[in-house]
Amino acid sequence: MTVFNFSAGPAVLPVPVLLKAQSELLNYQGSGQSVLELSHRSTLFENILQDTEALLRELLQIPDHYHVLFLQGGATLQFSMLPLNLATNQQRVDFIDTGSWSQKAMQDAAAFVKTGIVASSNADNYRSIPAGPIYSDADYLHLTWNNTLEGTTFTDAPQVDVPLVADFSSSILSEPIDVSQFDVIYAGAQKNLGSAGMTLVIIKDELLQRTPDRLGSYLRYDTHAAHHSLYNTPPTYSIYLTKLVLEWIKDQGFDTVVERNHKQSASLYAYLDQSVLFSNHVALPDRSRMNIPFTTGQTDLDKQFLQFAERHHLVNLKGHRSVGGMRASLYNAMPTAGVDALIAILKRFEQGER
Ligand code: PMP
Repeated sequence: MTVFNFSAGPAVLPVPVLLKAQSELLNYQGSGQSVLELSHRSTLFENILQDTEALLRELLQIPDHYHVLFLQGGATLQFSMLPLNLATNQQRVDFIDTGSWSQKAMQDAAAFVKTGIVASSNADNYRSIPAGPIYSDADYLHLTWNNTLEGTTFTDAPQVDVPLVADFSSSILSEPIDVSQFDVIYAGAQKNLGSAGMTLVIIKDELLQRTPDRLGSYLRYDTHAAHHSLYNTPPTYSIYLTKLVLEWIKDQGFDTVVERNHKQSASLYAYLDQSVLFSNHVALPDRSRMNIPFTTGQTDLDKQFLQFAERHHLVNLKGHRSVGGMRASLYNAMPTAGVDALIAILKRFEQGER
């Protein structure tokens, strides 16, 4: 039985990655040990860590003057670490308000420093990304590149004179990014990078100077940078799974993955746009390729659709509780067969099947 998992995260993983992890589970590279059992100080694990960083640097073309850190605490810990480390001059952070996750980032920062909103799409219920020039003179400007709940995405980085910090949790590695346009990029691993437990932080070297003296060791970016993410025990298995995911991307070619994402999201949007029953409300230029919310506009009918889909093995299509309706997350590991199966089920439901 094939199940297609449209969860927003933890999310579907590529089958070849799971098979590789399975084949290596009990005996990693002839060591007689599982990666789960390896010391983080062992050469075998240090090689995994180095290979993961090298693959990321290659695929995302990360310039040399950025550190790549593998941390814990989810993207959520970054909501606090960022202001604690970087908002040390003016003690002020600006935000672009694009909905739920940007607000969560702002609420946490507000526990430590002053916060401001320099642009917001609140007026159209977060169905778009704010347009127009943006000005900030805060310690940094924060934005959420892909909005997992609302299904919107930035397509261009705003030009500002202050460091730009971006939450890429739900779209990292779904398309190429120009890392040099950002000062910090961060992302939880459980969507496009691997399994829950690891958080990627890509940070420009010069920002490491900003951390104040009075801050505990784990919370400091400079600690992790100085120890190459081995200050304490890192999320070893999650890093290993990320290595396998990156190898999977490299083997088929990053371009192939990006093109597949374009095609798959385009075919789902094309169906939704001509459908009489289902619709997606996001402004066309700001539509996410990773998270696609849609609805019939009627709570009962949405519920019936979710049950119908589940009976046909299409799972985790329920929209976030704060948004309602449905949401299809089409991360890198979603096969085209999954999107085709979803469109077929949408059609059958629209034609009256229950
Ligand atoms: N930012 C975005 C854009 C997210 O989608 C999520 C999780 N869905 C988070 C932050 C929070 O991530 P975590 O659960 O890893 O803390």
